[in-house]
Amino acid sequence: MSRIPLIAGNWKMNKDHVEAAGLVTKLWWSLIDGHYEAEQSEAAVIVPFTDLHTVATIIEGDKIGIGFGAQDVSEHDSGAYTGEVSAPMLAKLKCNYVVVGHSERREYHGETDALINAKAKKVIEYGMTPIICVGEVLEIRKEGRHLSHVLTQTKGVLDGLTPEQVGALVIAYEPVWAIGTGEVATPADAQEVCGAIRGYVRDTFGPAAADSVRIQYGGSVKASNVVEIMAEPDVDGALVGGASLDPAEFAKIVLFYKG
Ligand code: PEP
Repeated sequence: MSRIPLIAGNWKMNKDHVEAAGLVTKLWWSLIDGHYEAEQSEAAVIVPFTDLHTVATIIEGDKIGIGFGAQDVSEHDSGAYTGEVSAPMLAKLKCNYVVVGHSERREYHGETDALINAKAKKVIEYGMTPIICVGEVLEIRKEGRHLSHVLTQTKGVLDGLTPEQVGALVIAYEPVWAIGTGEVATPADAQEVCGAIRGYVRDTFGPAAADSVRIQYGGSVKASNVVEIMAEPDVDGALVGGASLDPAEFAKIVLFYKG
């Protein structure tokens, strides 16, 4: 079955809501200039919480055909959790996607696979699509343990989900050593791990889930390297950090299929 690639731009902690309005509008102009077709490659922006209302309003008001979402979510619905933002709040803003388990959340906030699993379940419960991040640090890669490490993470973050739920979500394989470093995994490295993740999904959740789950690669993706990465059979898109802050560059990444 064919999976529509998802190219999602993770703005991280960049751009206030005024800057966000400019960036999303410029991105749309660049996509239109490049004859963007969402059926060929879907674009989404993953923005700071403070930008969400502005981005949602512009996307809806100007009929901008891209998705948007948040970079994290609470595992709780509401209550005394100062500083947290809940899934129902994000659903009310009509977020399409919510990233959970980004390596920066794992590293700086001690997020575990069990917590990420709980967050992914909340995202699904409120009708949005989680983009669940997994990936190994350099030490684990050097020791040759990257496959078992990533598959253990995958098992943990997908625990208790149904085959239908798994088939509809997005997994982002992001080797931590390639995030924001300029180091890119080779297309073969990306394929090795993305293929193993799909194999795990097939063995655990069945062929239909494996055929429809989208598996992204993330780590220093740019217009100059996206085509060869996307040529790999088990890579269904990219989670893009730094390069997503440049609308022309990000549009070129989204339009990778034009060569
Ligand atoms: C990311 O933030 O998920 C990411 C992949 O960043 P970068 O593209 O800058 O490596």
